[in-house]
Parts: sequence; C-alpha cells; structure tokens
Amino acid sequence: MPNQPRTGIRLLIAIAIFLTPVLASAYLAWRECYATEKALSLSYAQSALRRMEETSGQLTAGARALALVNLSPCSPEDIRLMREIDLASSAVKAVGRVVDDTLLCTSQGVANPISLGRPDLVTRQGISIYFNKDLGGQPPHPLNVLAINGFAAIIDPSQTLDVLTERPKVEAAVFVPSSTNRLRIATVGQYFPSNWLRPIGKGTHTTIQSGGYLVSLVRSRMWDLAVVTATPQSYIDRRFNRLAVLFLPIGILCGALFALLVNMLYRVQSPFPTMLRRAIKDGSLYVVYQPVVELATRRVVGAEALVRWRSRHADMRPDYFIPQAERHNMIQLITKQVLSIVARDLPQFLSMDPNFFVAVNFSAADLCDKRTLAAMDEFLRVSGARPENIEVEATERAFLQGPETSEVIDALRAKGFSVAIDDFGTGYSSLSCLQSLSLDTLKIDRSFVDTINTDGATSQVVLHIIDMAHSLDLDIVAEGVETEPQAQYLVKRGVQYAQGWHFGRPMDPGLLCEQIRSHASAGKESVPAQACLRVH
Ligand code: C2E
Ligand code: CA
Ligand code: CA
Repeated sequence: MPNQPRTGIRLLIAIAIFLTPVLASAYLAWRECYATEKALSLSYAQSALRRMEETSGQLTAGARALALVNLSPCSPEDIRLMREIDLASSAVKAVGRVVDDTLLCTSQGVANPISLGRPDLVTRQGISIYFNKDLGGQPPHPLNVLAINGFAAIIDPSQTLDVLTERPKVEAAVFVPSSTNRLRIATVGQYFPSNWLRPIGKGTHTTIQSGGYLVSLVRSRMWDLAVVTATPQSYIDRRFNRLAVLFLPIGILCGALFALLVNMLYRVQSPFPTMLRRAIKDGSLYVVYQPVVELATRRVVGAEALVRWRSRHADMRPDYFIPQAERHNMIQLITKQVLSIVARDLPQFLSMDPNFFVAVNFSAADLCDKRTLAAMDEFLRVSGARPENIEVEATERAFLQGPETSEVIDALRAKGFSVAIDDFGTGYSSLSCLQSLSLDTLKIDRSFVDTINTDGATSQVVLHIIDMAHSLDLDIVAEGVETEPQAQYLVKRGVQYAQGWHFGRPMDPGLLCEQIRSHASAGKESVPAQACLRVH
C-alpha cells in the first residue's frame, strides 16, 4: 500500500481516538447540565403549585369555618373570625366577604364596598376569580380575589411566583387548565407564548424543549390549577461553560493518553503483514553473509546470504519470521528484498573474485512462481553478475511441491544458475528420492555434521549422505562445521565445501569483502587496490 494514504489513515484514526474522550466528556457534561436545569425548572414549578394549592385549601377551609358559625357578614364577630382565619393562612394577603361581586369588608376592617365586576373565571370547584383588582392599597397594587360561598381570599399574584426571583430570566405562569384560553392567575416574564400552556393529566408533570426554553409543566391533582416554568437555554450553556473549565483539560489529557497508548499498542502489536511491509520500506531487513570455504584450500569461494530483521529492541531471528512470512504468503516479498540487497553487494565481491558465488535461500512459494525467472533475469541485469555467481538454495519440502516447482527449478538450471538442496536429511524424502531431483549441490544439515566423531546412533548417516551425493555427482557443502576435527573428517571423505562458525559467522558485506580480498591476494590473483566498502 502506498505510504501517504496509510499515514493519512493513521493520522485520522489518531485524531478520532484523541477526540473521542474529549467529545464524550463534553457530551456527558452537557447532559449533566441539562438534567440539573430540568430538575431545577420542575422543582420551581412544583413549589409554586404547592403554594397555590395551599391558598386554595385555606380559602375553602376559611369558607367552611365561616359557614359553620353563620355570622352576619361584616359584623364585628365576623371580622374577628376572619382575622383569625387570615392569621392562620400563610399564603393569603387578607380574607374578606364578597356578596354579589362586591367586596364588602376584609379581615382588616370595614371600608367602602368595592365592586369587583364579573368574575374573570369560575373554576370547577366553584371558586370565582377576579383578576388584578385595585383594593385601595397604597401604593396601588393589583391583587387577585378568589371567592367561594361569600368568603374571599385576597392574594398578591406577584408573590405567587416569587420562588423564581433568583432566576431572573425564567418565565412562569399559574393557570387554570379547564378554562377556555387557559386563563393565567399569575405570570412572570415578557415572552411567554400561549403554546407553553399545554393540557396535561391531573397530578402529572412534563418537561419539553420549546423556542430555546426548557419548559416544565405541573398540574394539581386536587385543584384546577397548573404551573409552567420556562428556563432559557442560556442557563444550561452558562452551567456547561463553568463545567467545561474542569472537564475539558481532563478530556484532552485522557484523549492524548489514549492516542499515545493506542499508537504504542499499534506499534507493538500490529499484525505481522503490516510489520513486515513497514520493515521492508524502512530498511529494517538486511542481509549478512556466511562464508563458504573450499575445504582443501580453506579459501572463501562463496557465501550464503542470510536475512536479518533489525527491530527497535533486538534483531529478530529468521527462524521466527521466515515461517510467519510463509504462513502469510509474504515470503516472496522477503526473497525480492534479499535479491535486491545481494544485487547491490555482489559487484564488490566479484571485483575481488569474479568466480565468487552467493547462495540465496528460496522458499516453496518462490519456486512455484514463474515470475521468479523474470526476477532472476532482472537480478543479473542489475548486478552485472553471471548465473554461475548465484546458487539457489531450496529445502527438500520446496523440491517436492509439484510440477510447477520442477519447471521453475529446471528453467533456473537451464539459465545457468546452480541449485542446491538445503538442510538435506531433515525433510521427508529418502536418499533414493535424490535421483529424481534436478540438482547441482547437496547441503548436509548441521544436525548430521554435529554427530561426526561421536557415538550417536545417527553418526553413520553422514557417510551415507556423502556416498549418495558422490554417486549422483553432486557438489557437497557441509553446514554447521564448528571444529577442526569435523573439517578434517569431511575433507577426508571427499566433501569439497563447508560453512560454519569454524570458518566464519554470518558477517556484514564489508567484512566478507575483506576476507575475499585477503584470500584472493594470497592466491596471487590480480586484486584491485581499492578497499572494500563498509555497507552496514
Ligand atoms: P539455513 O539456510 O540452514 O541457514 C543456516 C543457519 O545456520 C543460519 O541461521 C546460520 O546462522 C546458522 N549457522 C551457520 N553456521 C553455524 C554453526 O557453525 N553453528 C550453528 N549453531 N549455527 C550455524 P540463521 O541465519 O538463523 O537462519 C536460519 C534459517 O532461516 C536458515 O537456515 C534459513 O532456513 C532461513 N533463512 C535465513 N535467511 C533466509 C532468506 O533470506 N530466505 C529464506 N527463505 N530463508 C532464510
Ligand atoms: Ca540455507
Ligand atoms: Ca541449511
């Protein structure tokens, strides 16, 4: 995948991961503010309703008390009793007598009768309500008169909703739900559209959003009364802004930590294909060379290219990542990378020794694919090498894959590349299978070389392998030679080549080049004077 879109996608993911806690905390904070304002709005409506219910209760209780004693309206006894009722009624300003829509006297005494006109409203309970009456107080102040059975309670509509004084922008109204036009007993606020006065069930409450306000409605269970309060959106916003100062830095911190953590996890735990592609792109795959010596002369005549993966913490072993790459069908990417590195290194080896060869490990997938042939042509073109300078190593398993593999191997040999069977003896094929394979070289696996000069049960197997290879006229490379006695044993049995720690560990190309040069000078061949390049 091209680099930029992947980086772009990762950046987008990082931004999304960063923003998620920030936005989530903002959303939760906003919900919290909304819920608080909603609860407040409802509680104001409920306490205003409670007051109105108290007034109505006190009015009917007063009317009942007066009816029981049957005193003559506005007589001194009547006024005394009304004063007692007034004192006991917290929610009313005064009580009085109303006969034929006229206020005759109040608990404060007898004055000139005041005509109230027709009641503005008669509730279901038979309470007549006269709105905004000037009852001669100083300074003049409109009052509401609620009358039943000749008894009246006088209330100040501005005090009905005074619970809202600390919230100046909140609008509110007490209204009579059963009345046409939903008559308001008291109103606070200028805006107050009539659609806020919605009918709701007795004893219920609701909250809605309307026209930028949070509108709460409560209706009395007993009385024909309801209260609506409307809190402007700006109250929620103001509360949210105060909270934002707290939650925003926390949200940003969480977001940054989250993004950092996910990025770290992505780097540590990204899937193998992603890691491998990244490693190829950023040059983390490199190649070391293990010398192959001619046993008789101990001259370095070739080398095996062994891939390495330099990770941030430590080098990864090919024993781990090669099988993984095979499982993910990505081994050909590695072969391609190894070939391109070898094509870069080989010219300096050849400048020291034109007959030098490099053995490259091929997997079954490479040998099943005819494109490998084109890749090898390209390799020769780029490196300027001859086919004899390359040996193709394949394990027994790769050889036995099927007709496509044989075709590719035959074609490679036809082009002049030599082909070696690697780790011989560790796979499934028997020695007799060797005859049917198209081969140049046999590499004896290290496990057999280890048994040389020991009494182990398999110590004789190495002899059979050597005999078989001789009879098939194959070159032999013994792998994993670690001691001189092993080398002596092998040379005596006619093994021509060997590799192993006894001759040299896998090394970087600059060091290998030096070794080729020193061997070539000892052989008095014409060796160029320039120094080997240190590639790593
Ligand atoms: P291999 O092809 O059999 O490579 C030889 C392995 O034996 C190398 O291990 C080498 O470092 C190790 N070795 C060499 N001499 C000695 C010795 O004297 N003693 C001991 N104990 N070990 C020795 P390495 O580099 O870890 O490679 C392991 C395997 O990974 C290779 O086994 C090969 O199968 C695979 N591999 C390495 N590079 C490539 C590659 O470029 N492509 C593919 N497809 N496979 C590779
Ligand atoms: Ca090998
Ligand atoms: Ca091997």
